Formats: sequence, structure tokens, C-alpha cells
Amino acid sequence: MAGGEMADGGVAGGFDYDLFVIGAGSGGVRAARIASGYGAKVAIAEEYRIGGTCVIRGCVPKKLLVYASRFAEAFEDSVGFGWRSDAVSFDWPTLIAAKDKEIARLSAIYERNLDNASVEVLRTRAVVEGPNAVRLVAEDRVVTARIILVATGGAPSVDHTVPGIELAVTSNEVFDLERLPERVVIVGGGYIAVEFAGIFNGLGVETTVLYRGSEILRGFDDETRGFLHEEMVKKGITILCGDKPERIERVGEGLVVTTARGETLETDLVMTATGRHPNTAGLGLEAAGVALDLRGAVLVDARSQTNVPSIYAVGDVTDRINLTPVAIREGHAFADTVFGGREVVVDHELVPTAVFSQPEIGTVGLTEAEAKARFEALDIYRARFRPMIHTLSGREERMFMKILVDAASDRVVGVHILGPDAGEMAQILGIAVRMGATKADFDATMAVHPTAAEELVTMR
Ligand code: FAD
Ligand code: NDP
Repeated sequence: MAGGEMADGGVAGGFDYDLFVIGAGSGGVRAARIASGYGAKVAIAEEYRIGGTCVIRGCVPKKLLVYASRFAEAFEDSVGFGWRSDAVSFDWPTLIAAKDKEIARLSAIYERNLDNASVEVLRTRAVVEGPNAVRLVAEDRVVTARIILVATGGAPSVDHTVPGIELAVTSNEVFDLERLPERVVIVGGGYIAVEFAGIFNGLGVETTVLYRGSEILRGFDDETRGFLHEEMVKKGITILCGDKPERIERVGEGLVVTTARGETLETDLVMTATGRHPNTAGLGLEAAGVALDLRGAVLVDARSQTNVPSIYAVGDVTDRINLTPVAIREGHAFADTVFGGREVVVDHELVPTAVFSQPEIGTVGLTEAEAKARFEALDIYRARFRPMIHTLSGREERMFMKILVDAASDRVVGVHILGPDAGEMAQILGIAVRMGATKADFDATMAVHPTAAEELVTMR
């Protein structure tokens, strides 16, 4: 019998549900649907909007804004190809309304899919009350479940020691700004900071990135970070490294950011993109005996099980790799393992990723620094060239590609790309690198011509 159901249709052990999922985002929705498909009686609680961060205020609306922001350059570039595009203008409310409509459509699809899978959707905050008990806050009642899955995601971290930080917005609010500012200061140098710098700059906003470290995108390949920095500056973005806000004040209609180094930045909007933290505050996990790490992330084993055997956790709340496909895979593997009768363990190695900066980054495998630390000898192949479109557009933009090869085995251990469609390439490269492709395999692959990606198989 699947899902612990009893012959009379009840749940084994007398619980209300076989599975109670807290959080209807990427990981929770997948887990709920798959477990229900295995015959489990499943409920899912959501305190905000069905779909979670990725759909409502993350990947999806972000990518729509990235598309919107690329048109300005496309109009400029078209002139070199004979187009005239003098009378173009941009309207932020039109973009936001179109984005909102699409997000509502996707959220409704998520909800329909849950209904179709016979998952009970409860629109309430839920907190853990014990190893098998969950309190539905809006209804003020407690339900029981044989298994509880915590899939509550994360939230933007804000440095409240900075006076005036409450005048700034985070990625949660930025998608709903009533007006596009004329000037923005973005604090941080990670994924969200560089992606929104490209968005604002593309939409004509005077954009400054204020980053405390020595180079943006810590953790990515150093050379690739450096070239992205160069290209962003070429596009008109100001990047201030080694500095951070000391205070933010309202002056007249605008804001003034005073930095630790004493710079004064006048702006209309400050956006902080200073990382995210797991959503575990007030969730009742400690009281239920669930172990958390120092940042509040739920500690889990390879099967996403916590130290309390009936409680599991997937996605950003576990702070493993905070990406949507990873949360989905973890949710699916959890359902297969716990309700499907087959153990599936998620492999967190070689996860390809893209940063939708402008130009974008696509990457899989080790950075050069990591590869040097791991392998005795490395063969490094690099190409930096002008993408073909810019031969006529006249734009001074360079594409960069780098392949890292373990000299002893000839295996490709890392690939880093900066330029148009780098994210699309990373997806396919992810397969090759995962399969253990060697540089000889890359070389033996016929090029697709004329493309930028052909450099990957012609670098010698
Ligand atoms: P979430 O999707 O955050 O879902 C958690 C849900 O739980 C939320 O809906 C929340 O409201 C709900 N919840 C929390 N607490 C409770 C409670 N007590 N009771 C009831 N409900 C609760 N990843 C990518 O792979 N590619 C990208 O391009 C990308 N872009 C991003 C851009 C931005 C601006 C941000 C912020 C993130 C982006 N991410 C991206 C990361 C991605 O969104 C997350 O990794 C992913 O959403 C994690 O899924 P999850 O299921 O763990 O959590
Ligand atoms: P990141 O962790 O990527 O970057 C946070 C940045 O903020 C870092 O540059 C960090 O500096 C800086 N920072 C942290 N604390 C402070 C502080 N107190 N004062 C000043 N600066 C500070 O987080 P993001 O918020 O950009 O994104 C969160 C996560 O969401 C990402 O890590 C990623 O997992 C996911 N995401 C994925 C995307 C994608 O797949 N394309 C897009 C957007 C988000 P330092 O480097 O010095 O620590």
C-alpha cells in the first residue's frame, strides 16, 4: 500500500495526513505532487502566494525584466544593420502590469496542478508544534501528519546596523516599484546585485553597485568576474568595490548614501542585495528538537531528513545550493524516497548555473582557483573575442570562454562563459561535463557554424 494508507482509506497511525508540506514554492510543490501521486494523503500550507520565490519574486519576473532591459541595446545595435529606431520609448507601468499578469497566470497553474494531484491547499502560515504536529496559524488549529516537510525557502538579509537601511528596498519590493527611478544604488555584489544592475542600467537608470569586497561575484571564476566587471563598466554602470553604506538619509525627494570610505552618493532608490537567509524564524523547529546551523538553516542528511526522523526539509531552507532546479530535485527525491519506495539521493556536484547579468555568465564545474587546488597540473584554454553581431553593431563588447582540463586525465573539470546565451550553453555543457567529457571529446565534436559556442570545440 503506497503512502502509508490504511485499507479503510485513513492514514496509518491515525494521523490527519501522510505528508504535510510547509511552503508552496519550488521544492514544496514538487514534493507534494509526487507524494500524492504515490497515494499519500497530502496537504500543503502557503502563507503568501502559490509558486514561491522563483515564480512570484525571483527567477521568473527577474528574467522578464532582463528581457525588457535588453531592448535598449538591441535598438542601438540595429542601426548598424540598417534599421532606424529613433522614436522608441519605455513605459515601466506597462512592463510591470504585463509581468504581474504572467505571474498570476503561472501561480494559478501551480494551484491547478496541486488540485489536480489531489493535494489539499491551505492558505495559512503553518508552524511546527512537534514531530508530527503542525499549527495552522490563520485557522488556529493543529493537524497531525506522519511526515512533515519544511520547504519554507529563504528571505532577503538586511543589515539593520546601517542607520536608514529601512529606506532601502530588497528584491521582494523591487518588482512592484510604482515608478522607475532615475538613479539607483545597489548594495551587494552577488547574483541579485549584478542582475539588477543590468536591468536598471538597460532601462536607462543611472546605476551604481556598491560592493564591500574586492571584486563582484565572489565564488565565481576570478577571470570571468574581472571581465564581467569590465563589460558592466563599458555599459555605463559604476562599480565601487571595497566600500559599503555607513548610513542612508532622505534628503528632499531623494536619498543620500554615505559610504564607509566617506563617499556621498545621491540617488532615488537604494536596493540591498546582501544575501538571503533560511526562513526558520518562529517556525517552531527548535522546540520540536530539529537541529539548525548558525544561520538558521535546517540541517539534513543526503535524504533531506533532519535529526527528527518524521521531519524533512528541502530547498533554500536547508541552504545547500540555493537554486530552483536544486529545490525541485530535492523535493522530488524526497517524495520518491519516502513515499515511492525507491531511494533517490540528489547529487549536488557539477550543478550548472547562470548569472543573468549583462553580458550573462554560464558556468559548470570548478573555478580555476578550485581546479588548481585540486589537480596537480591543469591545461587552460581561453578565448576572448568579439561576438559576430558586434562586427556590424560596432559595440565594443567581448565574449570570454575558458575551459579547464585536468592534464593527467584530459577531463574537462570546469567551463566558464561570459557573453550572449552563456546560460543556454551552460545547460548543455552541464551534460557533457557530468558525463566525464575529455578535451579530446570536445575537439572531436564538429563545430556548429557560425555560432559563438563553436569556440568551445575549436579552442586549441
Ligand atoms: P521558495 O520558492 O522560497 O518557497 C518557499 C515558500 O514557503 C514561499 O512561498 C513562502 O511564502 C512559504 N512559507 C515560508 N514560511 C512559511 C510558513 N511558515 N507557512 C506557510 N508558508 C510559508 N534560482 C534559479 O535557479 N535561477 C534564477 O534565475 C533565480 N533567480 C532568483 C532571483 C531572485 C530575485 C531571487 C530572490 C531568487 C532567485 N533564485 C533563482 C533562487 C530561487 O528563487 C530559489 O532557490 C527557490 O525559489 C527556492 O525554492 P524553495 O522551494 O526552497 O523556496
Ligand atoms: P549572494 O550571496 O549571491 O550575494 C550577497 C552579496 O551581498 C555578496 O556580494 C556579499 O558580499 C554581500 N553582502 C552580504 N552581507 C553584506 C553586508 N552586511 N553588507 C554589505 N554587503 C553584504 O546573494 P544574493 O542576495 O545576490 O542572492 C541570493 C541567492 O539567490 C544567490 O546566492 C543564489 O543562490 C540565488 N539566486 C540565483 C540566481 C540565478 O540562478 N541566476 C539569481 C538570483 C539569486 P561578500 O561577497 O563579501 O560576502
